[in-house]
Amino acid sequence: MEKKPLLVVAVGGNAIIREKQRGTQWEQLANIEVCCEGLIELLAMGYRLVITHGNGPQVGNNLLRGKCAHHVLPPMMLDVYGAETQGQLGYMLQRVLNNKLGERGISAKVVTLITQVLVDGQDPAFKNPSKPIGPFYTREEFENMSEGEKANYVEDSGRGYRRVVPSPKPHRVVEYQTIRELVEGGKIVIAVGGGGIPVVKGQDGKYYGVEAVIDKDLAAAVLAREIGADYLLILTNVEGVAINFGKDNMTYIAKMSTTEARQYMKEGHFPPGSMGPKLEAAIDFVEFNGGKAFITSLEKAGLALAGKSGTIVYK
Ligand code: ADP
Ligand code: MG
Repeated sequence: MEKKPLLVVAVGGNAIIREKQRGTQWEQLANIEVCCEGLIELLAMGYRLVITHGNGPQVGNNLLRGKCAHHVLPPMMLDVYGAETQGQLGYMLQRVLNNKLGERGISAKVVTLITQVLVDGQDPAFKNPSKPIGPFYTREEFENMSEGEKANYVEDSGRGYRRVVPSPKPHRVVEYQTIRELVEGGKIVIAVGGGGIPVVKGQDGKYYGVEAVIDKDLAAAVLAREIGADYLLILTNVEGVAINFGKDNMTYIAKMSTTEARQYMKEGHFPPGSMGPKLEAAIDFVEFNGGKAFITSLEKAGLALAGKSGTIVYK
């Protein structure tokens, strides 16, 4: 029997807490409902799925919660907050997806796996925080911050100011073999949530958590390579990849080769911390695996795979 094509889907944290939403669990669940409708369609189209998700807004909120409550509760380190988001979002995705599978009479089982991702302790990112996380602040709120605090914030794609943290490059998914085995066993796997919990390997051969947030798109590409996926699908809150994004002459691009993508990247069309890593991930995966990568919105997942929406990156 021919194996069904394996698809790694990366769901954006910013699609799970939408612009202008506070991020209540009900808002997140409603967005996850939409997301899982799309994922069910992909299963119905005959794909095997490994699902990964972002956690930018959620991990930032957990960090802030810890900071605000430090008088009564001990704050945790960022790796632990990252692990929390794997549980939070994994649980919501797993429950909603299971319910929908039940409704459709599909017997497949969903598993969420706490996943660590190996980074390099000497990665220059530790000295140069670049990943925006947590809530958006207005220019006025930013102006009112202390100079010291301002240094931890950047403007994020015209949407406001956000806290930035180190975002080292993912090298290896520690649990990739387990993920492979689960996939081979017919499970729908939710893994590498939030880009994975960043860990380094000490001289003693043991793993240690580090304070950073790995970009989930780059981590999804590493995972997709390691488990030999056929396609990488990156779902976010815009319909596709544009050049001149946010300008009068903005144009969505339906198809781009990795060479074209690199050229646009050089010309500065894809900012770091948002669209940049999605294209980097797409190029990395496509050139390594020879599959195709798709970038589109949650709502357009099925259409994008059928070539009718979003942006396809090919070799
Ligand atoms: P996610 O949580 O899905 O990773 P990001 O905020 O990191 O979401 O990236 C998606 C955002 O990238 C979009 O909402 C959009 O504002 C921004 N963006 C920046 N440049 C582009 C571009 N060239 N084309 C499309 N979107 C872009
Ligand atoms: Mg992102």
